[in-house]
Amino acid sequence: MISEKMKTLAKNNSVIRAMFEEGNRLASIHGRENVYDFSLGNPNFPAPEAVREAIIDIAAESDPVGLHGYMSNIGYPDVRQAIANSLNSKYATSFDENNIIMTVGAAGGLNVVLKTLLNPGDEVIAISPYFVEYGNYVSNFDGKLVVAPSDITNFQPDPETLRAAVTPKTKAIIINSPNNPTGVIYSDETIKQLAVVLADKERELGTSIYIISDEPYRELAYDGAEVPFLTKYYKNTIICYSWSKSLSLPGERIGYIAIPSEIDDYQLVFDSAGIATRILGFVNAPSLMQRVVARCLEEKTDIGAYDANRKILYNGLVDFGFEPVFPQGAFYMWLKTPCEDKEFAAAAKKYNILIVPGASFACPGFVRLAYCVAKKTVEGALPGFKKLAAEYGLTTN
Ligand code: PLP
Repeated sequence: MISEKMKTLAKNNSVIRAMFEEGNRLASIHGRENVYDFSLGNPNFPAPEAVREAIIDIAAESDPVGLHGYMSNIGYPDVRQAIANSLNSKYATSFDENNIIMTVGAAGGLNVVLKTLLNPGDEVIAISPYFVEYGNYVSNFDGKLVVAPSDITNFQPDPETLRAAVTPKTKAIIINSPNNPTGVIYSDETIKQLAVVLADKERELGTSIYIISDEPYRELAYDGAEVPFLTKYYKNTIICYSWSKSLSLPGERIGYIAIPSEIDDYQLVFDSAGIATRILGFVNAPSLMQRVVARCLEEKTDIGAYDANRKILYNGLVDFGFEPVFPQGAFYMWLKTPCEDKEFAAAAKKYNILIVPGASFACPGFVRLAYCVAKKTVEGALPGFKKLAAEYGLTTN
């Protein structure tokens, strides 16, 4: 018999994953081209050519035993130093290899950091709406997820709500910007206010409260929007980065944690996080991919295609009378629903449109559309959205 904890998890298995499976089922009935699947943040655009070249060159050039062998749990020192150099040149930081740990994507990084920081019962704050897996990750280490809702007029975190959510047991707050699911970038002003609240609370409570900055979408910012680099604003910041979205490599499972030397208990945190990678069973990040990303640090996926989808979808939905949030980053659109969000997602399925109810992100009344899909999927879905608008009596422009 499986564990009690796992029984609950299996029962509540991610709605998003279930939708993905539903997309496959509908595709087998209606044909893939007639299913408009906006359920999963799986980039539909290839990694830059430089990634393929790096894979081929590294495989050809390297001694295979060395290339595929175990290494230090925290990753290759030269790769970590190359990442530190790249961050230093972009953000005027002063990292070196002793601030970087290679991980298995952001999901691996978050689990490593939470394992490192949490005692049972410790609290981790998430700003809703938030990536649903945070709850599972925190529960892996018997922590408690505390939800601080964002301001639903603009989906920026609300400093005073955060202040009220902090307790003596608060160990960390997870910040995700550009945000999944809203596409909002947390502004410089917002981050400054959050930093003031957390610093006040640290002083008042005599505790360390870490920001865990979950950054898979850092590079996906439109119209030249700036994404605040959080270590500049708040001393106790740990970054979990991933190339899953920035280089379209989600299946390769590669990312890093940046742990600045200035954070409280830096050495203990860094050393323990290195041990956590091993104990959690990842042991080390994939060796070939470490070498590949080190050669592609200045590469980016072309966000032009996401940008085009963003505009087609947004303009279409607004024309039909919907109220979407115009995304500043990532590849998600957050849409206010004219009825209960689960009902709306079910209604959309009639037109073979798959979208995720906001309840899955602890924010009912909205749905999320992942528009990292082919342009023809976006265009093909618009007639269905038009019919939905008519069904719910929205006014078409
Ligand atoms: N954090 C957020 C906000 C995400 O949206 C995702 C993936 O969709 C992850 C973390 C996990 O990403 P990775 O593939 O890097 O583990």
